[in-house]
Amino acid sequence: MVRAVVVGSGPNGLAGAVTLARAGLEVTVLEAADRPGGGARSVEATVPGALHDECSGFHPLAVGSACYRDLDLEGAGLRWAWPQVQYAHPLDGGRGAAAWRSAERTASALGPDAAAYRRLLGGTAHRFGAVSEEFLQPLLHLPRHPVALARFGVPALLPATTLARRWHTDEARALWAGAAAHAFRPLDRPATSGIGLALGASAHHTGWPVAIGGSEAITAALLTRLAEAGGRVETGVRVTDLAQCEADVVLLDTSPRAAAEIAGDLMPPRVRRAYRRYRHGPGAFQVALAVEGGVPWAHEPSRRAGTVHVGGSLEQVADAEAQAWRGRMPERPFVLAGQQYLADPARSAGDVHPVDTYAHVPAGYDGDATEAILAQLERFAPGLRERVVAMTPRSTRTIAADNPNYVGGDIVTGANTVRQLVFRPRVTLAPYAAGVPGVYLCSAATPPGAGAHGMCGWLAARAALRDLG
Ligand SMILES: Cc1cc2nc3c(=O)[nH]c(=O)nc-3n(C[C@H](O)[C@H](O)[C@H](O)COP(=O)(O)OP(=O)(O)OC[C@H]3O[C@@H](n4cnc5c(N)ncnc54)[C@H](O)[C@@H]3O)c2cc1C
Repeated sequence: MVRAVVVGSGPNGLAGAVTLARAGLEVTVLEAADRPGGGARSVEATVPGALHDECSGFHPLAVGSACYRDLDLEGAGLRWAWPQVQYAHPLDGGRGAAAWRSAERTASALGPDAAAYRRLLGGTAHRFGAVSEEFLQPLLHLPRHPVALARFGVPALLPATTLARRWHTDEARALWAGAAAHAFRPLDRPATSGIGLALGASAHHTGWPVAIGGSEAITAALLTRLAEAGGRVETGVRVTDLAQCEADVVLLDTSPRAAAEIAGDLMPPRVRRAYRRYRHGPGAFQVALAVEGGVPWAHEPSRRAGTVHVGGSLEQVADAEAQAWRGRMPERPFVLAGQQYLADPARSAGDVHPVDTYAHVPAGYDGDATEAILAQLERFAPGLRERVVAMTPRSTRTIAADNPNYVGGDIVTGANTVRQLVFRPRVTLAPYAAGVPGVYLCSAATPPGAGAHGMCGWLAARAALRDLG
């Protein structure tokens, strides 16, 4: 029997493991942590009964992922739930904007920007099925939907601040900035519009759902499928050397630098150099909050939103992102607040609700961003502090210590520079091949990049199976 070892049990590692096991390989997953799941784990981080997502919380790209459809995770018990508002962006004075499932409802609240919103985000949402099929794989390929891809690609290449010239109201500009800031890059850099367009449009196509029971439900479904196919997981095993993986096929759900360490001299020097040069982005500083009665957002639709982008105007978000990128801690960072319990009420402990927040901070930031996060929240939700009954911070160091893929707290496993958007983890037409026969990189450092969608692992496993013939 052909043997496979998968190093790391994040969504990509597990998706790759299931794909190999279903093809008849004998699969063992080795995981450094004491629990499988990587970025798809949930935990009672604050008070008993309040379930927080430790990392990923919202799944616009997972819900329609070709990988999860192929592995039929819903048949293995995975269920999604949607908040009423997919994401919202409060502004000072109780104003703000909200992205509803309906592009029309979203647009019509944007007054003079309604028509431009309908054309750009509504149009992209309409073509989202075709477009996402193109970008949820290595970008260099022969497109199946060239027209849809071109209509997406031309604006996607622009800096988000350039595309923002289409909007005239503070509300539309801020709503756009919040979506684009998921790029974790200064908004005046090329291609930051790509992430804003993809995530913004997905709100109207797939929505931004949560997994019922916490994101660890994704892990549970993958583990069910793995066990059915005869695969197994060993936790508490950190792989530092390929010699620990006695197998014909090895998938590495690791950072490129860790892959270079693990493969050592077996890796050709050009690949090792490229993996070592792989660039990581800014970090995240998390604070899990238990909030009695929920966050008292002054902007009413934010009280109904799964995700709230907290950072003020487009200019303020752009400034915060630029500072974090340059290595300076912004006084008013861009903060994301996850209110998953609105879609999945069983995550709350009575009237105490789990709210997952994190700020974009410089890579490896070793200060405490708790106060900066609370101040940003309080700015748009006066009275929040009195409602917080417990909180648990996680610094960039803790995040990286808990999961070595998040180098310096980089939760998206790699800077979204133009080069790394097109060629990740290195310039090659075989992005999963690690240069050592039978060894493949399958983490979010490979195409199509970050997210708990499993696509990197699924595609890497399929590349391995093709090579096996
Ligand atoms: C705070 C936060 C918020 C996020 N929000 C979202 C979101 O809302 N939506 C979304 O889609 N994504 C989100 N993400 C990103 C998402 O979680 C990741 O992109 C995704 O989990 C990547 O999956 P992966 O399998 O590549 O790696 P990971 O999920 O990071 O898993 C890698 C696993 O490999 C293990 N490992 C690494 N090296 C070794 C080794 N040498 N030996 C053994 N084991 C090893 C690690 O311990 C870990 O378990 C978020 C992440 C964080 C941290």
